Amino acid sequence: MLSGTISHWRKQLQNGSISPTELVEEIARSIETRNPATNAYLSWNKEAALAEAAKADLSLPLGGIPVAIKDNICLAGEPTRCASRMLENFVSPYNATAVEKLRAAGAIPFGRTNMDEFAMGSYGENSAFGATDNPAAPGHVPGGSSSGSAAAVAGGMAIAALGSDTGGSIRQPASHCGVVGLKPTYGRVSRYGLVAFASSLDQIGPITQNVEDAATVLNAICGHDAKDSTSSAISTENFAAELGQDIKGLRIGLPKEYLSSGNDAAVSAALEQSIRTLTDLGAEITEISLPHAEAVVAAYYIIACAEASSNLSRFDGIRYGFRADNTAGLDDLYSRTRETGFGPEVKRRIILGTYVLSSGFYDAYYAKAQKVRSLVAGDFTAAFGQADLILGPVAPTPAPRLKDTSLSPLQTYLSDIYTIPANLAGLPGISIPCPQPGSLPTGIQLLAPHFAETRLLRAAYALEQALAR
Ligand code: GLN
Repeated sequence: MLSGTISHWRKQLQNGSISPTELVEEIARSIETRNPATNAYLSWNKEAALAEAAKADLSLPLGGIPVAIKDNICLAGEPTRCASRMLENFVSPYNATAVEKLRAAGAIPFGRTNMDEFAMGSYGENSAFGATDNPAAPGHVPGGSSSGSAAAVAGGMAIAALGSDTGGSIRQPASHCGVVGLKPTYGRVSRYGLVAFASSLDQIGPITQNVEDAATVLNAICGHDAKDSTSSAISTENFAAELGQDIKGLRIGLPKEYLSSGNDAAVSAALEQSIRTLTDLGAEITEISLPHAEAVVAAYYIIACAEASSNLSRFDGIRYGFRADNTAGLDDLYSRTRETGFGPEVKRRIILGTYVLSSGFYDAYYAKAQKVRSLVAGDFTAAFGQADLILGPVAPTPAPRLKDTSLSPLQTYLSDIYTIPANLAGLPGISIPCPQPGSLPTGIQLLAPHFAETRLLRAAYALEQALAR
């Protein structure tokens, strides 16, 4: 099994202890050995990675570092399936901007990681190509939807990976697998080439072994992109600049709504341990309130499904992707293609989304959900008047068992309660491991105001280092 962070392998590459080619070979061996039991990757192209490795420029910030890419982020010449039958045979003709930027920083995109179909899910079990097992807790889900990216990093099958986060899909699987997941501010990383699920919420970000690596990958992938009209023109900084600086006097807000008795004991213990640790580091913990916390799940599932129903209308059997055979006319072609190509969760969301947008119901559901979204954003604006960062759980419980049929879709949706707010408000958030004795991997989440990733990473780094002591 491969271990070591980006900075570890950078040093090894630079001092000649290993060549980029050997590093690719090493990762490929690790994938070949461990993927049959985990299903973290849907495919990997060793030859293409070796060709890149042969010309790797080690002077670049990610020179020679292979990075795994979630299956909904376009990788030129490779399948981009979104773990769906609908796109099973689709080969992307171009690279997502985040992938282009990784390559410009010297990284080698390597492998397509498994996920919930079209990024809809929390456990990785909605993949059309089988569930992913959690290497840090075998027999349990790795979280989702970036299930394969988190499992690959946790299981020594990737040094780092890209995921996407619409309602928690980077932070929650990172937490369930005991690794770090960073969702940047909406607009910080271009969405060009990310297959759209809910465009106003989707954001690409890194899943890594530690906070420093998250900063390194974010440095590489961020920045304005003319190809994404929602990408921000705000200037980028060196997000690693404040790593190692102290956090004395930093005000950490603790939402009273997050101290729910419904949280698992390990989750509450992780929160308490983080509060103690941050206090020891000189931060000030202040209680804050997010009054609309209870409404976020309902608002999110209305907005996300509405946008999904629109975005996924392009998968019609005509333009690209799967097409049903022997159909009788156009309507039959559309309906049989979509019936066969999409899995049950995707269909559920398309139906829900179409309903909440339909005439007569739009005002009652979609318009109201948008109002709630504004109120949630307002809660954060008020909270960040009193606090520099916000601390909370990532999920109410550690990873459930694989194939736990007692969990209804609604219960699954409710488990996103702590990650969704950052997406509704467009805020950056990070999940870092906070292991509790005798428990499955448990993480802790920090949220920051828009574009305050440098502060977020400084605090996350300080907490990570102190928790490891
Ligand atoms: N679990 C959430 C959902 O199913 C979040 C998914 C995501 O962030 N892509 O919608």
